[in-house]
Amino acid sequence: MLEARGADAEHGEDVFESRQGEWVPLTEEAEKRQKRFFRAVAASERALLLLDYDGTLAGFRADRFQSRPWAGVRELLTAMQAEGRTRLAVITGRPSEEIAPMLALPKAVEVWGLHGAERLYPNGRRVLDAARGASHRKLNAVRAQLKKDALGGLYEDKANAAVLHWRGFPATKARAIEQRARALFEPLAKLEGLRLLNFDGGVELRAGRDKGGAVEAILAEEKPKTPVAYLGDDLSDEAAFRAVNRARGARLSVLVRRKQRPSAAQIWLRPPAELRGFLQQWKQALQA
Ligand SMILES: [Mg+2]
Repeated sequence: MLEARGADAEHGEDVFESRQGEWVPLTEEAEKRQKRFFRAVAASERALLLLDYDGTLAGFRADRFQSRPWAGVRELLTAMQAEGRTRLAVITGRPSEEIAPMLALPKAVEVWGLHGAERLYPNGRRVLDAARGASHRKLNAVRAQLKKDALGGLYEDKANAAVLHWRGFPATKARAIEQRARALFEPLAKLEGLRLLNFDGGVELRAGRDKGGAVEAILAEEKPKTPVAYLGDDLSDEAAFRAVNRARGARLSVLVRRKQRPSAAQIWLRPPAELRGFLQQWKQALQA
């Protein structure tokens, strides 16, 4: 059940637009849940802050290399890095090496790229969890085919995936691209080791760990009740929300999005103001 975030006094926002388009007061539930979580962070030796990048820390740009973090975000993450109790990790659909130049933080950051399939350690070591054997050959055949003919959409090639985008195309054209993409991908997604990943404006045929798997891998490296939060905006973040909801300690799954949608996330924040507010409260919890 998704709860709206409580009123943010600093920004004077005390209402939100519901799924039905009515203006309704914010619930106190979300505010309470968030406060409880930050009390747990304040009381812990260590906490996990897991973040998607595009749409969560930065707005969308046609050229993704122009998507810089929203104002204030870099400073707040820098403060957390310096304080040292927060394990910060970015879990993104992009190749992992693209994140550090965008964030430009003083210390190296842990990144899980390709929706979790690729891990980049802060020391620069990179490990890819990719397809093997028959599924690998099928995936590579599709990648080669789409490089030549993108079915009218925009093809993005990844080491572990074939991605077809229709974001920004007129509705009729977008539907036609989607139909062709699904006709190609869906039979293959039934094969062992390959899966379909839906996201806003596209679909991905992929192998390897997803964002939920990345969250689980991170949690497995920590003490059992370490507080964990995951912030994301897209359908591909749902697996990560569910993984956080299953964690044993204090946990918070957060949908960061201008408009609410059905989600496994526990609370909803609207960027960038409410995102900044969340990171500020995290920083304050560490100082408490
Ligand atoms: Mg995103």
